[in-house]
Amino acid sequence: MIFEGLSEKLQNALGKLKGKGKLTEKDVNDAMREVKLALLEADVNFKVVKDFISKVKDRCIGQEVMESLTPAQHVIKIVNEELTSLMGSVQSKISFASKPPTVIMLVGLQGAGKTTTCGKLASYLKKQGKKPLLVACDIYRPAAIKQLHVVGSKLGIPVFDMGDKQDPVYIANSGLEEASKKGNDVVIIDTAGRLHIDEDLMDELKNVKSKIKPHEILLVIDAMTGQDAVNVAESFNNALGIDGVILTKLDGDTRGGAALSVRAVTNKPIKFVGMGEKLEELEPFHPDRMASRILGMGDVLSLIEKAQEAIDIKKAKEMEEKLKSQHFTFEDFLEQLEQVKKLGPLNELIGMIPGLSNAKELKDVDFDDKELVKIQAIIQSMTKKERQNPSILNASRKRRIANGSGTKVQDVNRLLKQFEQTRKMMKQFADIEKSMKKGGKFK
Ligand code: GDP
Repeated sequence: MIFEGLSEKLQNALGKLKGKGKLTEKDVNDAMREVKLALLEADVNFKVVKDFISKVKDRCIGQEVMESLTPAQHVIKIVNEELTSLMGSVQSKISFASKPPTVIMLVGLQGAGKTTTCGKLASYLKKQGKKPLLVACDIYRPAAIKQLHVVGSKLGIPVFDMGDKQDPVYIANSGLEEASKKGNDVVIIDTAGRLHIDEDLMDELKNVKSKIKPHEILLVIDAMTGQDAVNVAESFNNALGIDGVILTKLDGDTRGGAALSVRAVTNKPIKFVGMGEKLEELEPFHPDRMASRILGMGDVLSLIEKAQEAIDIKKAKEMEEKLKSQHFTFEDFLEQLEQVKKLGPLNELIGMIPGLSNAKELKDVDFDDKELVKIQAIIQSMTKKERQNPSILNASRKRRIANGSGTKVQDVNRLLKQFEQTRKMMKQFADIEKSMKKGGKFK
């Protein structure tokens, strides 16, 4: 779950205010001390924390909150608003050129995820109807050019390269010519990285910038490196000037420092976040949704968007009909599981549902997707006939399935029982719906 430690501590600190009829200044100060510690522990920049706390306190100690009937709710609302504003308030989108191609230059240190992100961004824009071209200008890191080709071919996106013996400025410029010839409306340039910031690197990037005049320079930084990432962003912004940040590896064990400080320190917005190694795991960054997620208030909008992208609506309708008519088989069930898996790790999904991320009943439930994998293995070990007609599953068939899927007969039985219950329940729903449609009362 995103920023787990920070999230839990903030919710604890603010949770203590709940149930209090009136808040005193001391209550607010105590809560804010805890919020401050939580932010500092999450590696948020010291100055950013100080400003944040002082703003929140000023607003909380105002009349409106102290005299409100639900003061805790008020405080949470203020923290939510200030967290949102800290991260830039509104979503910052890519600005496309009025006359294509739009040129986007990705810069960053080695290992931050630049090459992978070039592919992710190209894929994201392709889904929006753009025709991107990737240009390989990282001529120093061994295998960077090949890596970009691998990424491009996975996505069906063309990659332009001139090997590693030409000057990056020349390659970038030739890439633009190629795009004009082939009708690509977006050019994404993968530039050279280094292990550390050095003058040579900055000079090269400045030369590329002044020659090709990109519409967007996006800096790729690794969220796992916390404050270091923020320092890198400051240096790149001072030396080169950037238009925004792509924060990678937010799926990892990141504490939140980079996400919460980078905007305030550099005054440049986070435009996208990388949520995994896979090429589809890039999300536009919404400050308000991120703040809600951190405070355990869920992010239903992102969840809906994910579902719309991943789920085939026509198939979902068919599935619903099958469920209602009891023609639902284990084969359909398997297909459903595949759809759910496309939405991403269960853990992450749970965090997007308001109230669920910290629900006590769910604290001990293991959402690490193992259960899904197990169910999938069991169904895959069934024959086609068995999947369509589970009633033929006798003891010896069950034993065979358990052996084949590396599970126990009890696991197979449990799945069968759940499956039957679901079928029955859906049948009942369908009957109720039918009788309601007829206008009759259901008994
Ligand atoms: P570059 O040197 O900046 O071009 O970095 P690469 O694109 O080669 O990425 C470095 C490593 O980070 C690779 O192993 C990537 O798979 C990984 N990576 C990139 N983005 C993400 C992300 O959002 N999440 C995770 N978990 N890994 C990522």
